[in-house]
Amino acid sequence: MINFEKNIEKLYSIMDKCVICPKKCGVNRNRGQKGFCGTADKIFIASSNIHMGEEPPISAKNGSGTIFFSNCTLNCVFCQNYPISQFGNGKEVSLDNMAEMMLKLQSIDMHNINFVTPTHYSAQVAKSVYIARRKGLTIPVLYNCSGYESVETLQLLEGVIDIYLPDSKYSNNETAFKYSGVENYVEVNQTALKEMKKQVGDLVVDNDGVAKKGVIVRHLVLPGNIENTKKVMDCIAKELSESTFVSLMMQYHAAHKSSSFKELSRSLTEEEYKEAVNYLELLNFENGWIQNLDS
Ligand code: SF4
Repeated sequence: MINFEKNIEKLYSIMDKCVICPKKCGVNRNRGQKGFCGTADKIFIASSNIHMGEEPPISAKNGSGTIFFSNCTLNCVFCQNYPISQFGNGKEVSLDNMAEMMLKLQSIDMHNINFVTPTHYSAQVAKSVYIARRKGLTIPVLYNCSGYESVETLQLLEGVIDIYLPDSKYSNNETAFKYSGVENYVEVNQTALKEMKKQVGDLVVDNDGVAKKGVIVRHLVLPGNIENTKKVMDCIAKELSESTFVSLMMQYHAAHKSSSFKELSRSLTEEEYKEAVNYLELLNFENGWIQNLDS
């Protein structure tokens, strides 16, 4: 049986010499020090909102209740969300405020609570969900992350998170270092995805097609990097299985520092996306979401 109070305590103690994520900065966030993510003990969020644009089982009919955290543990040159993730736009909230936000999103019939970029706030996520559950939160909680996660942190989130929505961005560490400044993305990502799948399994939906539990792996197809996409699909098939739910995303646009790289300075072409879709189909993934090129 999971001891949530003990796990929350451990998550907070990990921030004494922070190893909440694989960056392992070692700073004392509980005493106000900031590491790579620029986050200490205070919680900053950019918004709490209805999101209709997530994958069909996540947004479904009424929407997904997103809570966007400020800052990030990665520094992707193409970040599509950089004012929030890199510049830290947002306002300070308390744990009780967060719990109230969740209950408010539930009261307007959101299908889930969708924590966006939650990694550096894992302890606060666990504690605020614990508070909200005791006050009547019943809808699933979703962890929408970069996939660069510490397995020890994930283990302490077991039972808190119902749906994991991680990225799998790269198939080789050179590309990961070039675009996101991390050294061991591939190994870290694969280990994290396996832990997530171990905890919650493949995606489970109700009779209306609304997600209740499980993992969806996201991959943003990058322009000029179709081989990366194919190898990411190979890895998911091999390391997790073709029954994994995969969301192949085509909404890349040049943003943040992407103009420093010629191949990232343009949008994704229709041909590149089609090639990615064909490869996903070739691998016989049973459950994939692709975006409609005619829409
Ligand atoms: S959560 Fe932030 S401070 Fe902690 S290890 Fe990761 S980047 Fe460093």
